[in-house]
Amino acid sequence: MISNARISQLYKAQHDYFDSGATLPYAFRKAMLKRLKKGVSQYESRILEALHQDLHKHPLEAYSSEVGFLYEEIAFTLANLKQWMEPEVVTSPFVTYPSSSRVYREPLGLTLIIAPWNYPFMLQLSPLIGAIAGGNCAILKPSELAPHTAAVIAAMIKETFDPAYVTVVEGDGATIIPALMAYRFDHVFFTGSIPVGKKIMEMAVPHLTPVTLELGGKSPCVVDDKVNIKVAAKRIIWAKFWNAGQTCVAPDYLLVHHRVKEEMVDAMKEAIVDFFGQNPVNSDDYARMINSRRFDTVAAYLKEGHILHGGQTDRDKLYIAPTLLDDVEWDDPVMQEEIFGPVLPILTFEELPQAIQAIKKNPYPLALYVFTKSKKTEKALIEQVRFGGGCVNNALVHLTNPELPFGGAGYSGMGQYHGRYSFETFTHAKGMLKTGTWLDVPVKYPPFKNKLGLMKRIMK
Ligand code: NAD
Repeated sequence: MISNARISQLYKAQHDYFDSGATLPYAFRKAMLKRLKKGVSQYESRILEALHQDLHKHPLEAYSSEVGFLYEEIAFTLANLKQWMEPEVVTSPFVTYPSSSRVYREPLGLTLIIAPWNYPFMLQLSPLIGAIAGGNCAILKPSELAPHTAAVIAAMIKETFDPAYVTVVEGDGATIIPALMAYRFDHVFFTGSIPVGKKIMEMAVPHLTPVTLELGGKSPCVVDDKVNIKVAAKRIIWAKFWNAGQTCVAPDYLLVHHRVKEEMVDAMKEAIVDFFGQNPVNSDDYARMINSRRFDTVAAYLKEGHILHGGQTDRDKLYIAPTLLDDVEWDDPVMQEEIFGPVLPILTFEELPQAIQAIKKNPYPLALYVFTKSKKTEKALIEQVRFGGGCVNNALVHLTNPELPFGGAGYSGMGQYHGRYSFETFTHAKGMLKTGTWLDVPVKYPPFKNKLGLMKRIMK
């Protein structure tokens, strides 16, 4: 456990580093992004190994969602950073004539990036790309619940960066985060649960520190009757059981049109067997629950409905089979809490407004997915439900597009990142207006006698 004296030292060192102006130039930020990429690639096999130890992630799953994802994001940022850093020229109102206006993107300063355990590598380092691009220093706090990955992140960052620029503080979040946040950070970027997100926001109050909160929620997946069943089933099963359902944007529950329910269930069962075999416990491609506490919570949901497929568990192996659950009630815990595990409750609807009302029982989901060939259904869900982001005829993959903002709404969080949105999150938009001195329009100066008419003609 890091001592308070060490935290104070680190904080001061980062302050001095930032104040030196070293992080400001484009050349520096570019070099640091490249160095990050090199660090990740040098540690790649250790990262994949750690993710397997923590979550039994198959190397393909770990590579694509944690490592490859970062390479893509770094490449995208490198390709665009110079342009993002250019002051943006905007128009100026006539009343300010002769003036020009620009928006400068100014680094924030010291940032704290707090990560969860489910994508413990990517969710720690993807915001760091934004922090570096924005010209900031950063302290990273990995999740103690994915200890192998946390150790690899700490070793990699230590070897890659001067700790006065970017460093890692490991340990129990409930103790370390309050100790860190006793100091003023210029931004705290938190990914995790709603209850801890609330604590982060409280801790940010005394210093008026801005926070980004990337939280969770119950993300619905709507399947209407005009749909390609086979494709929908495969995409939903893939998205739900990726990382054994421990994905913040996993489809939490299915709302399927009653006319296609049976066909959909059959196709989903087939997809589960195609992907993971008759006995997924033997599949190398299927992850495990992070720990016994999470195992117990998710295993308890299995008793809250009728199991259509799966349902097998092995506590010693932290294994819960990919499960389809029927006959659940809206006030059962499985429909009240974010499931965050491999259990997919299936509910039906007859008319779309009924589905929309049902979704609103758990307001502001992080994601929403709709599988439909109907433009009307698609439009109704996008316009009538408030949620973070999502996909039509797909799931999860919206977050792989760096052109799209990723973040929650309402209870699923505040702020967004990825691509340019990360850069914006980690910079302050400083508006500057510059006025020529060759002309000094006197209309605004007292005495105002007889000038109101002219002012009215200028400002209308
Ligand atoms: P968590 O909130 O328990 O922990 C997240 C981080 O907070 C960890 O680093 C932990 O050490 C720290 N922490 C824990 N207790 C704390 C406390 N009392 N005070 C200060 N810090 C504390 O979340 P988790 O269990 O690691 O992750 C699961 C949750 O994260 C789910 O709700 C999931 O939906 C959400 N999530 C969201 C996103 C997203 O991008 N929106 C991504 C992944 C996970």
